[in-house]
Amino acid sequence: MNELTELYQEIILDHNKRPRNYRAIDDATHSADGHNPLCGDELSVSLRLNGDQIEDISFQGEGCAISKASASLMTTLIKGKSLQAAKEESTVIKQMLTSSDESDVSMEELGDIIALSGVRRFPARIKCATLAWHTFEAALNGDEDTTTE
Ligand code: ZN
Repeated sequence: MNELTELYQEIILDHNKRPRNYRAIDDATHSADGHNPLCGDELSVSLRLNGDQIEDISFQGEGCAISKASASLMTTLIKGKSLQAAKEESTVIKQMLTSSDESDVSMEELGDIIALSGVRRFPARIKCATLAWHTFEAALNGDEDTTTE
């Protein structure tokens, strides 16, 4: 295992053990439940939108380490951002997670979430990593239930 892989693992294990923003939002304006039947991951994502700003975002649920770490990292990344910026990040990150071309993605902007890039080598786990992002988008689109296909 090289140093980078170790660092990535540490980030994922840390977010799995101590997930950030793992709670309900009482006055959420948007929420959705996401399911990944391949692995059994079940997440719900809630957020409070004020105008164009995501004032708060949280998640709850049960899933594997990858799905929980991905959701936790997502909330830390997009909390406080504008809707536009968050949607762009969602697109970039889903691209990072599904692209087979490693040079395709600009690494600098992503911060710790880059730790998830390792899942590209494990196709069965990609849906674990993208579930939180799909659920976030479903919440914005007003779909209360989403399943990764
Ligand atoms: Zn999973």
